Amino acid sequence: MSDSHVVVVGGGVAGIACADDLVQEGLNVTLIEKEPAIGGWAAEYCCKATDRCNRCFVCVADKERENLRSSGRVTLLTNRRVREVNKNNSGYLLKVGNRLSGSEEEMHADAVVFATGFTPFDATKKGELGYGRYDDVMTGLDLERMLRNRGNVFRPSDGEIPGKIAFIQCVGSRDESIGHLYCSKACCAYALRMARVIRNQNPETEIFFYYMDIQPAGRLFDETLKACEEDPNFHFVRAIPSKIYQYYQKNGLMMKSLNTDDGSVEEEFFDLIVLSIGMEPNRENDGLWDKIGLRPGPEGFTDPQSCVGGIFLAGTVSGPKDIERSIMDAKQAALSVLRYLEDKR
Ligand SMILES: Cc1cc2nc3c(=O)[nH]c(=O)nc-3n(C[C@H](O)[C@H](O)[C@H](O)COP(=O)(O)OP(=O)(O)OC[C@H]3O[C@@H](n4cnc5c(N)ncnc54)[C@H](O)[C@@H]3O)c2cc1C
Ligand code: SF4
Ligand code: SF4
Repeated sequence: MSDSHVVVVGGGVAGIACADDLVQEGLNVTLIEKEPAIGGWAAEYCCKATDRCNRCFVCVADKERENLRSSGRVTLLTNRRVREVNKNNSGYLLKVGNRLSGSEEEMHADAVVFATGFTPFDATKKGELGYGRYDDVMTGLDLERMLRNRGNVFRPSDGEIPGKIAFIQCVGSRDESIGHLYCSKACCAYALRMARVIRNQNPETEIFFYYMDIQPAGRLFDETLKACEEDPNFHFVRAIPSKIYQYYQKNGLMMKSLNTDDGSVEEEFFDLIVLSIGMEPNRENDGLWDKIGLRPGPEGFTDPQSCVGGIFLAGTVSGPKDIERSIMDAKQAALSVLRYLEDKR
């Protein structure tokens, strides 16, 4: 089995965890990533510690990425994109395109793990929320990048620390109007944790958290939620935001929302609005799936039931997960690969 070659497609947290487990079992592993660096989306996220660690798992992902890179045990091919996978007598033949030179190489694999991940919801699809039109409407991904790179929140329009911030939950998830009924599972936790980081750094800033449901995820979630509930500057609002528009009397945004308790329409002014976007299936690999029989499940993510012998899925390619669950799923995928290769002998 040690001469078996496994290709892991996608170098996000799931691909990294899976490749690492497989190489520790003595297998030859190639990790293929289309971007110049491995890490996936999580490499862009911030630490969400306040006066203590809040277990967001971002540093775990950072550390695993560095370990894999420095150990040199996994063959790492970046700027390469897997374009085609075909079954043959001895396993699979992959066609891999080099994005820099434009050349293509062929590669044999005894097993292939797809860890090709998700696509963050494109918030411009919810035009009424003004993303892309108003500078001070940002997404959770923009806020992750801002906190990672600049260490605090600044209003994009004038660089000031915002005094009043709204978080809008379930943007692109649990939304019949765009055909996404599923919960993205990570956005309540990342939004609450980032809101706490902001409150911790800016004692004057008020947070308004617009939600319908709260989905726990990860360790210490209950503690984070409780700390927000006990914070007098943190307000939970059970309402559906319906429109955001520029307020011209002073720099900021007006938000209309429907109070789900009494049906009233309310209007509130904010300095900054954060849209807690969720996850969508990554459609860029649809062409890959056809030849090996992989199909989308009811929510559009790749259906694990459609995996045939030697093909495996890891992480969010099969549905929304946070980092911890993506890593657990990847470890499970590595075990399934080992079992498959052992049975094949
Ligand atoms: C805004 C936002 C904030 C979040 N914050 C947190 C948080 O704080 N904590 C937490 O636990 N979770 C968080 N999550 C969830 C987290 O992003 C996911 O759990 C994690 O990134 C999933 O990793 P993955 O490896 O499955 O996918 P990805 O990160 O999408 O990685 C997939 C990789 O595959 C590559 N790839 C795709 N197709 C190909 C191909 N054909 N050939 C080669 N390479 C390919 C991609 O370039 C990418 O690098 C957040 C999610 C969102 C949307
Ligand atoms: S788990 Fe998250 S909050 Fe804790 S130290 Fe790591 S990055 Fe920071
Ligand atoms: S995790 Fe929270 S914000 Fe995200 S879709 Fe689920 S309920 Fe909505």
